[in-house]
Amino acid sequence: MTQTATGKFTPQTDHAARAIDLAAENQALRARMAYLLEQAERNHSIMTRHQAFDLDIVSAANFPELIGTIFRVLPVISELDSVTLTLIDEDADIRTVMAKLDVVFEDFPELIFVETLDGLGFDLGQRNAYTPTPKPLLGMYDAQRHATPFPQPPAGLQSVALVPLLRNKRIIGSLNLGSCDPTRFTPSLGTDFIEHMASIIAICLENVISNEMLKYIGLTDSLTGVYNRRYIDRRLLEEIARARRQQYPISFMYIDIDHFKRVNDTVGHGGGDDVLREVASRIKNELRTSDALARFGGEEFVVLLIDANLESAAFVAERIRASVAGSMIALSQELQLSVTVSIGVACLNPGEAEGDPAAVARAWVAHADSLLYVAKETGRNRVVSRDPVEQA
Ligand code: GH3
Ligand code: MG
Ligand code: MG
Repeated sequence: MTQTATGKFTPQTDHAARAIDLAAENQALRARMAYLLEQAERNHSIMTRHQAFDLDIVSAANFPELIGTIFRVLPVISELDSVTLTLIDEDADIRTVMAKLDVVFEDFPELIFVETLDGLGFDLGQRNAYTPTPKPLLGMYDAQRHATPFPQPPAGLQSVALVPLLRNKRIIGSLNLGSCDPTRFTPSLGTDFIEHMASIIAICLENVISNEMLKYIGLTDSLTGVYNRRYIDRRLLEEIARARRQQYPISFMYIDIDHFKRVNDTVGHGGGDDVLREVASRIKNELRTSDALARFGGEEFVVLLIDANLESAAFVAERIRASVAGSMIALSQELQLSVTVSIGVACLNPGEAEGDPAAVARAWVAHADSLLYVAKETGRNRVVSRDPVEQA
């Protein structure tokens, strides 16, 4: 008697029966092999897709590109019905900087911001010296409990995984995965793979956020929060080229605070800085979002107005002048002071923007500066948009 792999005892003499058994066994083994091969191929293909995904997110050039790739690609390669991302943004720094860099948050409904760590929904009470950071939370979807990570859940969402995003043991947010398959995320499932994926996403997020912050710092004036000279110099060239293509007028304002030395002498340098911030804010209030305001240096500001002819730019300039002069600036309850500005406005009409953009920009800015000089010479607290010679 011999025992076969299928567990049957067969008399050795019964060759025919044995042959049938072997054939069945063979078939079962072949089927098992095919299954394992299929699994291996599937795993290989998942791995290849994930490797390509890793490369994609590592090479994302900016924040929108990174999160756009995560939301577009991850649901497909991981066969998920929902992927969202929660970021901790305590003082809204990330949102402020991204908004300044023209990130349109409406394009990313899967991106969620929370103010605190508690907002992520992890059981932080379980943290201790051995497990200082929370592990991924896997289990059944609960509309109430998962309202924050899944604000717009797809129909039929059944199981979810909330995976902490960690940087140097600090939690920066969570990657939230959802599936309509109730067995996809169960508490007993191993989490090595998704933890690894989350760690790569966390590194990329941190990199891209700090790069965007640096970009932002490089383009803004730290005292007033408006753009700096470097930004406007670059923007001028871009806008000159665009205005040339699209044949619309663009205007430039040169704004200088009157007798600012006296302001500093009266209220000190700190008080002078407060005045600069308030003037910047009053100018900004009069502008459209397409206009760019920059501090050019010292107590000088410039504004670039897109698709604005001389008449409309002079009208905006007059509103700015009136807003600054219209009410006193309060430095404290006891200390208020009156400040005025002089403004030179120059327009670049279609047809005037020909030639080297840098030379056009220089001449244009110089023209606005010379009109500002006229405003100073003729009494300050005024807007000049035409050469006196032209006017005569
Ligand atoms: P005018 O009406 O002719 O423009 O007179 P003004 O006193 O404003 O003239 P000027 O441009 O010569 O003086 C600018 C002053 O601005 C000189 C400088 O001390 C001051 N200033 C430049 N940068 C800053 C700054 O960052 N903070 C403060 N508080 N003052 C500054
Ligand atoms: Mg000046
Ligand atoms: Mg001045």
